[in-house]
This record gives sequence, structure tokens and C-alpha cells, in this order.
Amino acid sequence: MKNKIICLAVAAALFASLFAFAGCGSEKKTRNTYDISASYADGTLAASMEFTYVNQTGEALSFLEFNLFGNAYREDSAYAPVSAAFEKSAYYAGESYGGMEISSVSPCASWSVCGADENILRVELENGLAAGERVTLQIGWALSLAEVSHRTGIAPRSVNLGNFYPVVCVFEEGSFYECEYYSDGDPFYSECADYTVTFRADKKYTVASSGKILSAREDGQDKVYEMSLENARDFAIVLGEEYSLAQGEACGAQIMYYYYDDAAPEEKLALIEKSISFFSEKFGAYAYPTYSVVQTGFSIGGMEYPALTMIGDHLAGADYRYTIVHETAHQWWYAAVGSNQLENAWMDEGLTEYSAALFYRENPDPELPYESIVDAAYGAYKALYTVYSQIFGEADTTMNRKLGEYLSEYQYVCIAYDKGLILFDTLQKETGEKKFFAALKGYYADRAGKIARPEHLKTAFKKAGANVAGIIDSFVDGKAVI
Ligand SMILES: [Zn+2]
Repeated sequence: MKNKIICLAVAAALFASLFAFAGCGSEKKTRNTYDISASYADGTLAASMEFTYVNQTGEALSFLEFNLFGNAYREDSAYAPVSAAFEKSAYYAGESYGGMEISSVSPCASWSVCGADENILRVELENGLAAGERVTLQIGWALSLAEVSHRTGIAPRSVNLGNFYPVVCVFEEGSFYECEYYSDGDPFYSECADYTVTFRADKKYTVASSGKILSAREDGQDKVYEMSLENARDFAIVLGEEYSLAQGEACGAQIMYYYYDDAAPEEKLALIEKSISFFSEKFGAYAYPTYSVVQTGFSIGGMEYPALTMIGDHLAGADYRYTIVHETAHQWWYAAVGSNQLENAWMDEGLTEYSAALFYRENPDPELPYESIVDAAYGAYKALYTVYSQIFGEADTTMNRKLGEYLSEYQYVCIAYDKGLILFDTLQKETGEKKFFAALKGYYADRAGKIARPEHLKTAFKKAGANVAGIIDSFVDGKAVI
């Protein structure tokens, strides 16, 4: 996500690649599959899916768990999806609520909606699931959308369908990892899967999707789309009645820019293409057959999904351009290389911020000079450190905190984004260009399609001939002096 307006002065005051990633046929057979059928009308998505889970946990399972992100938007949720700072702009029409209602699960012994905030669907399996085996479930649900300019909701000029389906929880250390919907940061953590999606909506809508649209046919008043996406950890859709489309191509991927308010769409399309090409060259080939950048109502700024990026329509000028580049870098750091965004937010946000800065170092924009982007991160972090030291006598600058442990959105941004950028800037200065990019290329080749942990980053640098484990630890543990 990009939730920081690029006002540099204010901020300062306060290869392996494609083959390794997509070309491995045997890997595909081991991924979970979501075969989703969904129909949108009048603020509600009626949907069902055939979900196949491949038990790669190494142990027998008696139940499965799914994250129900849509439930965070209900009236009595304990974890509000929108922070107080953005409440007014997000809920543009006043209070509004949604929710995710599970209607059926089969076959199973029983199912329930539980978790810390009705955020988990727990399915007791009929016969258990031995290690290495797979089980297929049919799950039906209805997602009602709040009027909110957020990941999942009806915005004034578009409809955002992020996180619209039950997402199986990552199994680690003997249990399923349950995601609470913290308003600071992106509270998502998932493994790659294969998707086929049949989506129906009124034909008045233009539909943008994470998936490649294989076909679109009219059926009375509706249009029915068939979409697919392989090896992706999320799947999102945006629809709207006013969209124009600019199309291009970069690194073999079809590039689409959906907009309704842009006097220079060709300029944005060129920027999208340039950023896909730049990051492909620096880190490894872009992973998907399409990439859609979609202007939409998203009050916080920008939001990344595999092969689809939401850009808030309230952004303008350099903020708009920077957000496009930042979200595009997330296609490498979050979409392809996954990480636990609830616990290690710096891993994707810090590296994404630094990647965006590097883009501007080699593709100068007078309003976004590289030096200013980097200086702004140092300035913001130092301001945070000073303020907290003065108020509390000490400043907690640890980076492996759960999202809920940050005291404010401001603190989260300064640690995950700004200190994250500083960490990668430090690694680059310490190791030199050659080893730095060799390490990140190796990191991408090794972890694309998988989950990366801090250890994997250290290993990637070590393989490139740079032992930076001590630097990474000192940053993460809050001991580095900056
Ligand atoms: Zn981000």
C-alpha cells in the first residue's frame, strides 16, 4: 500500500526469474486452486467456489481455516478496516457497513465463523487430511459492500472487490495464521494459488481484474467474464461505468491503464510500461501475463494486488505518478515474493520504497528527485526518533512488530516505509551496486511464488558475497544508529 503523500519538505520535517517462477510445471500441481463463480449486483456479490487444498504442511489436518476479510466492514467489527485519520474521506456518504455471510460449506463435518473478530471460517473436515493429500470444498457466500473508498467497497465512481473471497490461512508452526484486519498497513498473508474466476455483472460496467480475461460474453443485461491467474497470492476485481482504457505492452505482459479522470493517460501508460521494464531488468522478469493499473476510489492512496493495482482518484501530479511506481514495485515485493505483512511489513514496504527510489534515480522526474526521496525517508525517521525519545524517554524502532503494536499510522509508516528504505539504502552503500542487485535478483529467483522471511534476505546477500546479517539484525532489532 502507499498511504503517504509525497510531500518531501513535510516528510523531512517530521534471473533466474521467469523460468524459476512460472515455468515450473511440477510446482503448479502442488498449489491450492480457487475456482470462483461470482455475480455482482446492487452492492452485493453472490458467490461460490470450488476450493482444493493441497496439504503441504507435513502433518495430518482435521480442519482448515479461511480469512474472511470482508467481515471487517460490518457494523460491530472489533478491528475497523479504516483508521481514524482516513475515516471521513473513506466513508464519503457517512456511516456504512458491509459483511461476508457464509451460506454453505460441503463436504465437511461442520463449519463455523470464529476468530478474534468473526474473521475466520473454520471447516472441520469429514475424514481428516493426511500430509500430501488434497481435499476439495464447495463454499458459498454473499459479500455485501459498504459505501467506502477502500479495498472492498462501493466508491463514488467505482466498485472495489479486493479480498472478496474466503482466503485459506497460511499454516505455519503447527497452526493456521489468522489475519486480524488492522487499519494500519496491509493485514494480509497468503500463499500462491491458481485461480479461475467466472464473474457476472451488468454490462454497463467495465471490469478490470488480476486475471487475464479469457472471454467476455453478453447474457441479457449482464456480461459474463472468464478469467484466470496462476501462481498468485490474491485476486482482485474493480468495476466502474466511466472507465476509459489505455493499453500497451511491456516485457511480454499486456499493460492496461483504466482511468476516468486523467488528461494525460498516455503519459501514465508509458510510466507503467517503463516501471515494469525497469524492475524486470533489475530484479527479474515480471511474473504475470497482464498488469492493470486502475484509477479508483481508494482514500488511503494506492493498493497492490497481483497483476492489479488500485490508485486513489484523489491523488494528482507527482503523488499520482509516485504511487503508480510504488505499487508496481509491489509486483516484485509482495505479489511474487510474499512475506508476512502483519509481522514483517518492512520486508515488502521498505524494499518497495527503495525500489521506487531507484526507479527515479535512473528515470529522473524533476518533481521526484532520487536524493529527495531518500533524504525524506531519513528525515521522517529521525523526526520520529526525536519526537518519541523526547516524549517517552526512548523510541521503539524495532521493525518486526505486529501491525496492531504500532501506536499510530504515522509510526507504522516511519518504521515500515522510511526505516525500511534506509535499511536497503544502507545495504546498497555497504555492498556496492553489483552485489546489491545480484542479491536482490537471487532473492527474487529463490522466493518468487513463495513466502520470504528475513533469513531468506540475509541468505540472498550472503550468496552474492555480502554478509549483511548483522546490519539487517541491528535495524530490525532497533539497535542501529541512524
Ligand atoms: Zn506499499
